[in-house]
Amino acid sequence: MWTCKNLWKKLSPLARSSSTLCRQNARGVVLNNERRLPLVPQAHMSSGTPGSGGDNNLYYLLVGATCVGGGFYAYRTIKGDKERYQERINEIASRPNKVVPEQPITEAPGEQAAETPQAAEPATVAPAEVPAPTPVEFPSHAPYLLIGGGTASFAAARSIRARDPGARVLIITDEPDLPYMRPPLSKELWFSDDPSVVDTLRFKQWNGKERSIYFQPPSFYISPQDLEKVENGGVAVLTGKKVVHMDVRGNKVTLSDNTEISYDKCLIATGGVPRNLQVIERAGEEVTKRTTLFRKVEDFKALDKVSRDTKSITIIGGGFLGSELACALGRRSADSDLEVIQMFPEKGNMGKVLPEYLSNWTTAKVKSEGVMVITEALVKAVSFKDGKVEIKLKDGRLVKTDHIVAAVGLEPSVELAKSAGLEVDSDFGGFRVNAELQARSNIWVAGDAACFYDIRLGRRRVEHHDHAVVSGRLAGENMTGANKPYWHQSMFWSDLGPDVGYEAIGIVDSSLPTVGVFAKATAKDTPKAATEKSGTGIRSESETEGTASSPVASSTPEPPPVPERKDNYGKGVIFYLRDKVVVGIILWNVFNRMPVARKIIKDGEEHADLNEVAKLFNIHED
Ligand SMILES: Cc1cc2nc3c(=O)[nH]c(=O)nc-3n(C[C@H](O)[C@H](O)[C@H](O)COP(=O)(O)OP(=O)(O)OC[C@H]3O[C@@H](n4cnc5c(N)ncnc54)[C@H](O)[C@@H]3O)c2cc1C
Repeated sequence: MWTCKNLWKKLSPLARSSSTLCRQNARGVVLNNERRLPLVPQAHMSSGTPGSGGDNNLYYLLVGATCVGGGFYAYRTIKGDKERYQERINEIASRPNKVVPEQPITEAPGEQAAETPQAAEPATVAPAEVPAPTPVEFPSHAPYLLIGGGTASFAAARSIRARDPGARVLIITDEPDLPYMRPPLSKELWFSDDPSVVDTLRFKQWNGKERSIYFQPPSFYISPQDLEKVENGGVAVLTGKKVVHMDVRGNKVTLSDNTEISYDKCLIATGGVPRNLQVIERAGEEVTKRTTLFRKVEDFKALDKVSRDTKSITIIGGGFLGSELACALGRRSADSDLEVIQMFPEKGNMGKVLPEYLSNWTTAKVKSEGVMVITEALVKAVSFKDGKVEIKLKDGRLVKTDHIVAAVGLEPSVELAKSAGLEVDSDFGGFRVNAELQARSNIWVAGDAACFYDIRLGRRRVEHHDHAVVSGRLAGENMTGANKPYWHQSMFWSDLGPDVGYEAIGIVDSSLPTVGVFAKATAKDTPKAATEKSGTGIRSESETEGTASSPVASSTPEPPPVPERKDNYGKGVIFYLRDKVVVGIILWNVFNRMPVARKIIKDGEEHADLNEVAKLFNIHED
């Protein structure tokens, strides 16, 4: 008995000194065996009267067998620990950028020793094989890990911190910049009279106030190295790093340099990349060199330079991005000999969104900004000849230019779907998520990359700033346990310069039946005047602060109905209908009334007279 106990006393510290990975095991071994030891006297006492010879023999037999068995068990456990320990050392040695703990772990001294490879196994792990401690660049673990450094990620980070003030949030972005907003890249930045705008990335909003495109200055963020240490947590950003693999079972991601970072909860907000036309991709290097796909800060900087260095720029695409850039460059051409051409397959600008009469009106507006607009233009071939890019159209027309901007849509970034085993929607693209923006139990998706279930309008994917804000915020809330569905309809807006703009909500698709109600615009019905009044520049900020109270009809006397074909569409409301229910609304030069539109969509009712509904927007008031 004494021998057995002493044997265990000798064995237990050995078991305890095995690797940290096996710490739990080692404790288990000691505990199990300590439990087993008291069983021996218990067995002895129950098997007969103490002192009887036969009993004693049986007792020695039992003690002996237990000691031998226990010793064998302990030997195997320690051997197993050693093997697991060795595996861990090998794994650590093969891991690049492993975070080396700055402070030794301060639990049991025996366990500490085991944590340092050299101390525990000097014979098997030569110092040269152990990676030299590299400067700690990455946290090895982030409770909240957000992939992508765009608007959706930033909104999620903000809402996570609002609900969980001590939260440690890590944003990983493959861009070199801290999170920034994209809308000014095709609008205000182009209208700045500050020649250093490409460096400062500060711009005057339409209301004259200056601001930066960055959501927050660098001082707002903590450094990734400090994420695990800082007392109250914070938001850290790893810039210039791409997540290339997701192990959703192991709760970890791998970066392109093979670094692994584990997480508790993960948001995918990877946005998308601009599409290109196949004819441009096939056209060769000279054309590729002279083509801009516009999405990022660098693209703005590059196009700004091109607009100063070349004589002719052709924008392919008639959507909001192409039309905004056309207007911006058109304005610039007024003071230079730059030629700006815009071409697209539709009959008019924003033809996929606006009803035909309004699309035609918009085309006239873009032309008045100095842009040569070529409608119904299908690009057949692109080549580089005699120092010019030649664009051949299907109907035989030929356009010669110096530079192309392809603004032909977005491809959601879903490369991670494969390794993560996540579903990509076959109709809309993007990661398929439920109404709570959840793809799996601890993975959410927001922004342009999310194909979500809108409990009001069905399955959708939305590529707009305010949606990135709204969905990012919701995902952040749900990552902290809110379990809320998507119901707050996001909006989007587009400005053709400071004088004409629209705000839209719901499904705005020109193939749906529409009803438009217009009124005469006044000087205050412009994007510029609207931002002056609200004091904010990014319109989604002004509108999301508004309350979605019940709309109240205007007390203004009923105006005469305005026919849809009116030539001057000063300001108005366009309703988009599906099965007679309003599923989308455009507020044309009508600003800061989005809560009313949101309420109409949310109610989802049939309306007998949409002129009456239009009154809720007070468009006939001066
Ligand atoms: C020039 C321009 C003007 C716009 N104007 C308007 C407007 O007026 N109104 C409007 O409503 N909307 C506008 N938009 C659209 C709006 O900006 C987008 O809908 C919004 O940016 C989407 O946000 P997001 O966070 O989902 O994606 P993004 O902003 O695209 O951010 C995704 C980020 O993730 C990064 N990333 C992707 N994959 C990885 C990876 N594997 N690892 C690490 N990082 C990764 C990307 O590089 C990117 O930085 C505009 C867009 C552009 C480009």
